[in-house]
Amino acid sequence: MDADKVIEMQSVTTPTRTHVPRVLILGGTSEASELATHLAARSDVTVISSLAGRVSQPKLPAGIVRVGGFGGVAGLMSYLVGENIGVVIDATHPFASKISGNAELACNTLSLPLIALERPPWEPNEHDCWCTVPDAQAAASMVNHQRNRVFLSIGRQELGAFSNCEDAWFLVRAIDAPSETLPANSKLILKRGPFHLNDELQMLRSEFISLIVSKNSGGTATYSKIEAARALQIPVVMIDRPRKHNVPTVPQSDDVLQKLAQLL
Ligand code: NAP
Repeated sequence: MDADKVIEMQSVTTPTRTHVPRVLILGGTSEASELATHLAARSDVTVISSLAGRVSQPKLPAGIVRVGGFGGVAGLMSYLVGENIGVVIDATHPFASKISGNAELACNTLSLPLIALERPPWEPNEHDCWCTVPDAQAAASMVNHQRNRVFLSIGRQELGAFSNCEDAWFLVRAIDAPSETLPANSKLILKRGPFHLNDELQMLRSEFISLIVSKNSGGTATYSKIEAARALQIPVVMIDRPRKHNVPTVPQSDDVLQKLAQLL
């Protein structure tokens, strides 16, 4: 969504309070929503959540919500100044590296405190068979072989890396219909997590999946596909996280709240 098409919404139960610090949560994750719920119930802060607008029907967090890009670092800086934001919480997805880099630069330039939340990555155990690759392109060249039946579970944005894969068959799962061209041999499922282990097991079995491609997103909402892969001894091509920024991160929402308490 363009910066000039920003939508701002406010829950009627959460009026804007003047003279209290204004906290901006860069969101799009379950942790960001949890933080918004917690902070919106407090009277000592005003919380604004920002969503990129990628999903057609997002679950809106509690409190004030704005939707759409800011227009790069300059746009973000002007928003932070204009909205009198006192603290920024970057609770974006581990693969959302652009907005995190922008937040780091904007906050550094404006000398604003930035708290960065990053959920820990998944780690393989001795029963897992993972091959870690640096990006979606590398995953695509690794899996595109005849007879491979690949469960492609990386969201929509990087599907383009698989567009020219003509040899393997793909089961593609995303929340909204992708704009990228899907691989020639593919089936699309539109579904939003969280996903449950039994359903994942059933899907992998019924589609005769032989390989899974996943981002190392961490968290619990999509972990059941990794557990299912383990149970069925299906190898996983795991896309490693990008480098987001140079800001020290905290792993949990509680740590964010502690840091916020120190700042306020
Ligand atoms: P990205 O590549 O880091 O950001 C691309 C651009 O999208 C940014 O430059 C910014 O536009 C805008 N943007 C991103 N997050 C925003 C936010 N929270 N509020 C306002 N603008 C935002 O991000 P992405 O990977 O496309 O992810 C977009 C959103 O989806 C994030 O909020 C993220 O938490 C969520 N998400 C991402 C993934 C994933 O795998 N990447 C998975 C689940 C959820 P401007 O430069 O115009 O400000």
